[in-house]
Amino acid sequence: MENCIFCKIIAGEIPSSKVYEDDQVMAFLDISQTTKGHTLLVPKEHVRNVLEMSEATASTLFARLPKLARALKTATGAPAMNIINNNEEIAGQTVFHAHVHLVPRYQENDGIKIEYTTHEPDFDALGKLAEQISKEVDA
Ligand code: 5GP
Ligand code: ZN
Repeated sequence: MENCIFCKIIAGEIPSSKVYEDDQVMAFLDISQTTKGHTLLVPKEHVRNVLEMSEATASTLFARLPKLARALKTATGAPAMNIINNNEEIAGQTVFHAHVHLVPRYQENDGIKIEYTTHEPDFDALGKLAEQISKEVDA
C-alpha cells in the first residue's frame, strides 16, 4: 500500500535488518531496539491490524511465531520474551500495517513495564460480559 512504511520495507524500497522471510511473512529488527533483538513480524499482505485480519492471514502470521521466538532466544541468549501486538492508536499502534513485537527480556528490573491493573472481581458482571462477547464471536 502506498505510503505504508512496512510495505516499503517488504518491497525492499526501505532498508531493514531482515531476520526471516517467506512468501507470506517477513521479520526484521525494530528500529527502536527496546531491548537487543527487538523484532517485528509482519504479514506481507497490507492489513491494518488484527481487527481487520482474515483467519487465513492470522493462521500464517501467528504460526511463524514459535520458530521465530525460539531463534531469537537462541541467538540473543535472552531467557524470556514478551510477544505484543497493538491494535489502534489508544492501544499504542503507531504503524498501521499489522505487526507483532517480539521483545527479548534479559533481566528483571530492566525498566520495561507491561502492567495490567487488577480490579476487585464482580463475578456477576464478568458472567454477563462473557456472555455478551461470546454471542459476538460467531455473529
Ligand atoms: P507500534 O507502536 O505500531 O506497535 O509499533 C511500531 C514499531 O515500528 C515501533 O516499535 C517502531 O520503532 C517501529 N518502526 C517504525 N518505523 C520503522 C522503520 O522504518 N524501520 C523499522 N525497522 N522499524 C520501524
Ligand atoms: Zn503496509
